[in-house]
Amino acid sequence: MTKFHALFNIFGMNYDLVVIGGGAAGIFAAVTAKAAHPDWAVAVLEKTAVLLSKVRISGGGRCNVTHACFEPDVLVKNYPRGGRELLGPFHRFQPRDTVLWFESRGVQLKIEADGRMFPVTDSSETIIHALLDEAKKRGVEILLRQRIVGIEKREEFEIVKKEEESTFARRLLLATGSSADGHAWARALGHTVQAPVPSLFTFNIPTSPLKELSGIAVDPVEICLPGSAFIQKGPLLITHFGFSGPAVLKLSAWGARFLHEKEYQTSLIINWLPELSEEKICRVLIEFKREYPQKALIAESLFKLPRNLWRTLLGEKFNKRVGEIPLKDLHVLAHQLHGDLYQIQGKTTHKEEFVTCGGINLKEVNFKTMESKVCPGLFFAGEILDIDGVTGGFNFQNAWTTAFIAGCN
Ligand SMILES: Cc1cc2nc3c(=O)[nH]c(=O)nc-3n(C[C@H](O)[C@H](O)[C@H](O)COP(=O)(O)OP(=O)(O)OC[C@H]3O[C@@H](n4cnc5c(N)ncnc54)[C@H](O)[C@@H]3O)c2cc1C
Repeated sequence: MTKFHALFNIFGMNYDLVVIGGGAAGIFAAVTAKAAHPDWAVAVLEKTAVLLSKVRISGGGRCNVTHACFEPDVLVKNYPRGGRELLGPFHRFQPRDTVLWFESRGVQLKIEADGRMFPVTDSSETIIHALLDEAKKRGVEILLRQRIVGIEKREEFEIVKKEEESTFARRLLLATGSSADGHAWARALGHTVQAPVPSLFTFNIPTSPLKELSGIAVDPVEICLPGSAFIQKGPLLITHFGFSGPAVLKLSAWGARFLHEKEYQTSLIINWLPELSEEKICRVLIEFKREYPQKALIAESLFKLPRNLWRTLLGEKFNKRVGEIPLKDLHVLAHQLHGDLYQIQGKTTHKEEFVTCGGINLKEVNFKTMESKVCPGLFFAGEILDIDGVTGGFNFQNAWTTAFIAGCN
């Protein structure tokens, strides 16, 4: 402890670094800082009685720690907000480093078919233990149930608490996730905050005739939000309330602000056969009519779509021999398969992973250090920043990377 600290000791506890928020970013930043500066007094102040609560519930309790994407240029494409700013940081700490960090602490990660990485134990507790063991080993002080009512900046930071002595810090790292408290303190310290709105959710389509086909997945489809440039290709899952699956979650992330502005009431277009042009679909239908006029179109899986889905998409109108269906109706069908229109009427939280779009304005942060450009000594890491990724481990990778860089500095 320095002379500077001794001076403030009479008022309350003081530290070289105080991290507010005991989530993935806060704990990782604290252990990184302690590893880089073993003589520093480092504390984590957490509001609740538990640390790493989102890690615990993440990935359905398995914790999708990161994604097997080891090229920074490719990795950044998974961040609707923050991709550009994360390019430099990913050259310093990327998923390969995350894997090595956990491996060197006895935690093996495995890669699933879609690239998501989980601990081989399939339990988020493994990740929690590794992080908390490291914090203990390094001597990070952890204070739970902290009631912080304000932060004052003079030469040092004064963290004012309810019915308790203030805590003083030479450096302060805000890692409070999407909490409004963190945003308010950042604003008070001179920052601007992009309004938080939800990202990673599924679409409610109460009028969808497909709801009874809940459980059917189609891969790939192409989906887009008319009136915007947002478009996604990938697997789609039909649910009893509308649509889910990776394509929908990605579209909800990229279109998070657009959808919020539309109050989650807007159109969705599904191209069920993105590998074929509308003209090609039409030609296949017309050839079928010519060759097999006696056959019922509805009974044939011409395009390898799930049989029930095919039947429902065609409906009663096409429930007859194809020879009796006028050519113009086949054109209409081709058009529908290529651009099927639905009305989104609300959203549902995706239980496995959701995140907030919005947070600290990225222009106000130096991504070489994660230090504030407007308030020296103030740092940020994790979801408090206006950074969010698509589903698949990218959000934790943002937490690990920004925390590592902040911790090193
Ligand atoms: C259900 C769910 C599942 C998820 N699954 C995945 C997944 O599998 N993979 C993935 O990459 N991402 C996943 N995410 C997203 C991921 O959890 C977050 O991106 C990540 O936790 C962000 O880390 P963070 O440390 O920045 O914020 P948080 O984890 O939110 O941590 C912030 C901490 O700050 C504390 N805090 C808040 N206000 C105060 C205050 N006033 N004083 C003191 N402390 C305060 C909070 O209590 C919390 O402990 C999931 C999210 C959810 C909700």
